[in-house]
Amino acid sequence: FTQTPLPESHSWTPENLEAFWMPFTANRQFKNQPRLLASAAGMHYTSVDGRQILDGTAGLWCVNAGHSREKIAQAVYQQISTLDYSPTFQMGHPIAFELANRLVAMLPQAFDHVFFTNSGSESVDTALKIALAYHRIRGEGTRTRLIGRERGYHGVGFGGISVGGISANRKFFGSLIPGVDHLSHTHNLEKNAFSQGQPQWGAHLADELERLVMLHDPSTIAAVIVEPVAGSTGVLLPPVGYLERLRQICDRYGILLIFDEVITGFGRLGTSFATEYFGVMPDLMTTAKGLTNGTVPMGAVFARPGIYQAFMDAPENAIEFFHGYTYSGHPVACAAAHATLDIYEEEGLFERAKSLSGYWEEAIHSLRDLPHVIDLRNLGLVAGIELESIAGKPTARAFDVFLRCYERGLLIRTTGDIIALSPPLIVEKSHIDQIVGTIAEVLQAAI
Ligand code: PLP
Repeated sequence: FTQTPLPESHSWTPENLEAFWMPFTANRQFKNQPRLLASAAGMHYTSVDGRQILDGTAGLWCVNAGHSREKIAQAVYQQISTLDYSPTFQMGHPIAFELANRLVAMLPQAFDHVFFTNSGSESVDTALKIALAYHRIRGEGTRTRLIGRERGYHGVGFGGISVGGISANRKFFGSLIPGVDHLSHTHNLEKNAFSQGQPQWGAHLADELERLVMLHDPSTIAAVIVEPVAGSTGVLLPPVGYLERLRQICDRYGILLIFDEVITGFGRLGTSFATEYFGVMPDLMTTAKGLTNGTVPMGAVFARPGIYQAFMDAPENAIEFFHGYTYSGHPVACAAAHATLDIYEEEGLFERAKSLSGYWEEAIHSLRDLPHVIDLRNLGLVAGIELESIAGKPTARAFDVFLRCYERGLLIRTTGDIIALSPPLIVEKSHIDQIVGTIAEVLQAAI
């Protein structure tokens, strides 16, 4: 890993931090108490004040191979010096085709085409559009309804927030897609608290899909979208048998099943994708984040055999799918993705995640008797630590824990009163001990 020198120190004040309207951030709190990162290498960030911060969250679930990898930096530099940009509308460059071939080869029975995007949100909107258009071109244009799930997070596009199940999105932005319905989420502490791995209770909740199909009529439903493991809304694990049942019901009624693997893709569970981990194949799979190790924005939607072909009945010079981004298959992103996939392969990082998952599980569950902990859950190299909310002040306790961890040199992520952990897959056992040790110490002192 290369350790770049720190930039000259600045005195950051709320005034010179003002212009950046920060995303998903308590802007005023941040600007009064800034947490600025200057560089990163391997498992650590270095803050502008020169402190080492252990990355317990792989950035935002994306830096699976660890930070500032030389191989990716070189590949990006080479690519910009060789072919900085080229369109992929009616034109192409070899590296994008090579990347698509390489990606579909990761799960060859499951998928045979990929559509490139620039983010998870764009991957989701792309997958929803493919689903709608797929039915229409096959003469089933009445299938316009999309089914999501409560507490689903599918990014911030209008498609994604419509199928997503987060009330703040509904409150502020409504749902621009008409005819969306939702399954219940599967999270239940009464039944499943402190589960290790997949919870046992809850597969029957998939049968709600059958009820929605009966309510709306199968001929109106295009697709169901779920995260196999929901990350952003607090690490919600699928009960044993749940995803299988969704698959069966979708098959029965000709509904496309979309897995949103923006978080679970590229090794997080110790397999290439969650679909491999659970042995359940979706029709479309959305990815981003770990595809380029978080270095260059990129996403990819994978399509199972038959979907692309369904579009190919149009006259040969017609554009078959009226969709795409200026930066779809951007050569620099492709170069970063190739180098990232090289690292995953050369270092066996998916297998590494798998081999560490037992140690991870034990370490996480050692927190059981600490103050405020009402649930611990884990799968692969993901964990959720749910804290009891302070009456009348939801989110306050977890945010306090987040700040205290940061002070002690650990980056965690919180959502509501849940801590979500997802370290880079290069994590060592000593880092796991440090993550869990710091959280234990902080929980003893937390409000
Ligand atoms: N889908 C899922 C499951 C995600 O977790 C995320 C981001 O965390 C997204 C979509 C959105 O990705 P992006 O922020 O790259 O648009």
